[in-house]
Amino acid sequence: MTIFQKIIDRQIPADIIYEDAECLAFRDVNPQAPTHVLIIPRKPIPSLAHATVEDQSLLGHLLLVAGKLAVELHLTDGFRTVLNSGRDGGQTVDHLHVHLLGGRSLGWPPG
Ligand code: AMP
Repeated sequence: MTIFQKIIDRQIPADIIYEDAECLAFRDVNPQAPTHVLIIPRKPIPSLAHATVEDQSLLGHLLLVAGKLAVELHLTDGFRTVLNSGRDGGQTVDHLHVHLLGGRSLGWPPG
């Protein structure tokens, strides 16, 4: 079981800032920007590479929630949404998640 599944199941605590029937959003424990939130589906999809057409509206929902939270968190100067997938993508938790980062100017390209 992944650490994110344990957060969904309330087996370990997290700073949850939003939840609905399909997803949960909570603050990253090791923030890489002043605002760093993770948006995760309740459905345990390991990564974007495992998503299917069945997940199409769920994936869209995660992005809409990210945008809504960005507004609510006053990221008026902009923000970044990131999905790391697999080893080369830097994914460390095998439960699909969207990073929402903001509150400072972010570099590009990523390392
Ligand atoms: P990734 O490297 O894209 O798989 O992102 C995983 C993220 O999960 C990292 O930014 C971690 O800091 C974060 N993380 C790991 N464990 C926890 C936790 N218990 N609560 C909140 N964030 C976590």
